[in-house]
Formats: sequence, structure tokens, C-alpha cells
Amino acid sequence: MTPLILQLSQGGQAVSWIHWRDAVLYYAKDQVAWTLGDQTLRFYGGVNRVSNARSYMDIHPIIAVQGDQGRSVFGTVPTLNNRELFQRDGHTCMYCLTSLGDRHLTRDHVVPISRGGRNIWTNVVTACRACNQRKADQLLSETNMRLHAVPYTPNHAEWLILRNRHISADQMAFLKAQCPKYRDVQVS
Ligand SMILES: [Zn+2]
Repeated sequence: MTPLILQLSQGGQAVSWIHWRDAVLYYAKDQVAWTLGDQTLRFYGGVNRVSNARSYMDIHPIIAVQGDQGRSVFGTVPTLNNRELFQRDGHTCMYCLTSLGDRHLTRDHVVPISRGGRNIWTNVVTACRACNQRKADQLLSETNMRLHAVPYTPNHAEWLILRNRHISADQMAFLKAQCPKYRDVQVS
């Protein structure tokens, strides 16, 4: 699998994961403002018929692109979906601490929807089916169950970590620096 390239705004805000083909376009259009990362990825193009030489381009794992893309993600709430939710919680039930494959996990609303809870990052946790069924539409205070971690809304850098399972050391170091210091994002 080809690694994804981490695109930054010109000001250094992590923006998105992009395919190397999109990175090649930014290089070709001279829109790459600056780059980071030691290990470049080399992509080969066509063979020159005259010189018989094959063209190639070295792409850095982190590229800052000219323009104002950074503004669009700054302070936004990442989309809530199970894939990133389970990743946030380390694929572990937040009630009984059992680690399971994603298909055995569910999204539990800490304050149930039927009790006025909302479907937002701070009100949802990963739960195994048994715990989810046991809790049903009760409030935590009405059960003897305990929540082992306080659900949080990932910031944009954390969300980018949660979305990609193949992050290079350079990219991870960069993203971690943009995560809140008091959190250690689960990576599996
Ligand atoms: Zn459980």
C-alpha cells in the first residue's frame, strides 16, 4: 500500500491526507511551499524516447501547499463515525475494557438519545454488544457500570491520526505536536 502524503497549509496546519498523485500535481504546479521529512518517496514517470531515461519525482511525506486550505479545518469538529470512534477508544469497550474487532463493537451514547443525549463525540464511547445492551436506555447513575475514559472530541490533528493506519514516523511526530498535550492518542 502506498503511503499517504500529509498536506499542510502554508502556515503549517495539518490539513489532510492526500494521494501521491495529488502531491505530484502540487509539485508540478509549483505550489509546494515547503516540505518536511527525511524519507522521500520516489515515483517514476514515463521513459524519455530520446535519452531513454526514466523520469521520476521525489515526494516528501509532509508537504505545505500554498493557499488557504488551513482556514477551512481550523477549529472544525471532525465527522463522527464508528471507524474513528473505535480507533479513538483503542478498539476497547469503555465499560468492561474488553478489546475486540470492530465488527463486535458498537457506538454507545453515554446519555442515551431517548434521554436527551446527543450524537456527538463527547457523548459517545466504544462499547461491546453485551455492555451496550446491559446499559440500554439508562443513565450511568442508574446502573452499576463504570465509564473508564471520558469521551472527547479529537482536534483535527488527532482525527488525521485516527483516520490513517499507515503513518510514517515523520508524519506522526508532526501530528502529535498539534495534538493537545494532555492526551495520548491511541494508535493501533
Ligand atoms: Zn463491554
